[in-house]
Amino acid sequence: GRSVHQIQSGQVIVDLCSVVKELVENSLDAGATSIDVRFKNQGLDSIEVQDNGGGISPQNYETLALKHHTSKLSTYSDLTTLQTFGFRGEALSSLCALSHFSVITCLAADAPKGTKLEFEVSGKLKGTSVVAAQKGTTVIVENLFNNLPVRRQELQRNIKREWNRVIGVLGQYACIQIGIKFSVSQQAGKGKKTTLFSTKGNQSTRENIVNVFGAKTLTSLITLDLNLELEPTSGPSQRWSTQEDGEKKEIRIVGHISRPAYGEGRQTPDRQMFFVNARPCGLPQVLKAFNEVYKAYNASQSAFIFANIELDTHMYDVNVSPDKRTILLHDQNRMLENLKVALTELFESQDY
Ligand code: ADP
Ligand code: MG
Repeated sequence: GRSVHQIQSGQVIVDLCSVVKELVENSLDAGATSIDVRFKNQGLDSIEVQDNGGGISPQNYETLALKHHTSKLSTYSDLTTLQTFGFRGEALSSLCALSHFSVITCLAADAPKGTKLEFEVSGKLKGTSVVAAQKGTTVIVENLFNNLPVRRQELQRNIKREWNRVIGVLGQYACIQIGIKFSVSQQAGKGKKTTLFSTKGNQSTRENIVNVFGAKTLTSLITLDLNLELEPTSGPSQRWSTQEDGEKKEIRIVGHISRPAYGEGRQTPDRQMFFVNARPCGLPQVLKAFNEVYKAYNASQSAFIFANIELDTHMYDVNVSPDKRTILLHDQNRMLENLKVALTELFESQDY
């Protein structure tokens, strides 16, 4: 039968996309400057994420994949000012329960050898062996959902849609992260490995966008830099926890957007990207506001949007769902009103 552990794990790791997000965020948390994501059969056979980050110390091998073991959170107050992506220690433990899971890690840059760690379904360390490795960590997830047949079938049935979402999300990380090389490749069956895209450790999101979406994208893009100031309110429901009376909320939205005159046809979701403090996320209400303004200028097309919303960590909540996919923005309606005004001003200031 299915254990409680397996059922709970299915709430953190809900699909292919959550696997990829958790592993990439772990690599970023580990200080990697190079992240290589390799799929076999679109992830149905395996997903491997290799990084050149800090690696895992031997004293953490035993507890690595146990539930709620994390090296990242030291005090409760850290929860409100989260700097790292991870903090719950649930991803690796969940992956043990939901796949054939192993890790290869190597601490020192000059060591020619690393350690391969294999785990039991419970997250208990099964054994270690010495293997060839470079500095950093490789996490290998094989046969995802092999022990949840219904979930596995669902994944196989929806693989095309899932795959598009996964590649879209990886493109988002690759574009937003400055100075980090991303490479994403896929191998179908026994076929040749093909690289889907790679970034070069660029110093700007523009260069990243060129690497991921091609140079042609740039011809239509203008710089997005909106400063929204929300006047102070007195109602406690609109105040975030540490906001002083009379303190303004400042929100900056930076990135790139199509100039309305350059239509690009209908955009697919992977070309309409939103981030909150560099964390990729779906923000349907914000997208709707962008589309509304853009449509007033160019009714037949939609915009390429790359928008990072920078705001105080107290002004949103990422911890509403275990998969961290839902983000709640405080005082969202007032923010959207200001956003539409600022975006209209930006478009008005362009020469056509
Ligand atoms: P969390 O990220 O919430 O801490 P995870 O289950 O994702 O929990 O990871 C558990 C622990 O494993 C992390 O706290 C970290 O110490 C270690 N870890 C995971 N991935 C990596 C990696 N790529 N490089 C170094 N350490 C890692
Ligand atoms: Mg994590």
